[in-house]
Amino acid sequence: MTLVPELYCDDIYCITPEDIKKYGVNAVILDIDNTLVPYEIPEPTDEVRVWLTSLSEAGIGIAFVSNNHAPRVEKFNESLGYPAFPDSGKPLKRACRAAMEALGSTPEHTAIIGDQVFTDVLAGRNAGLACAFLVKPIKDKRNLFFRFKRMLEIPVLRKYARLHKNKP
Ligand SMILES: [Mg+2]
Repeated sequence: MTLVPELYCDDIYCITPEDIKKYGVNAVILDIDNTLVPYEIPEPTDEVRVWLTSLSEAGIGIAFVSNNHAPRVEKFNESLGYPAFPDSGKPLKRACRAAMEALGSTPEHTAIIGDQVFTDVLAGRNAGLACAFLVKPIKDKRNLFFRFKRMLEIPVLRKYARLHKNKP
């Protein structure tokens, strides 16, 4: 098992339906905080809505799996209405399993998209998903624990850079 994501880019907008479908994927499990919006933004922005719609229109199923609590997740999802799983316990696989069940998808046709190696990518690996896409966190929490977690990600990101050095 590798923690090196299949794709690592600046933000979700670099990830197109074509990128997702390249992996034979028809469902995505999305992190919310720092992946779609920063912690303090309660609702999806217009840009996020447009991006989500582009996925839906390409026939890609969407579910939210977040370690944040129900009120935050429900508020964010209120106007969207996708299957959503708060307090997900990532990197444990259980919420990913529940999300796939809700989407009628299977691990080999499902991807996870998030901003944390040891939460999102690892959850994807634990659930046996086809691939994991990592984006740079929109805005980092500056407390010591988060900085420590980010520090642990550095070797994984270096490995990604090495593997993809000769690719455009
Ligand atoms: Mg996150």
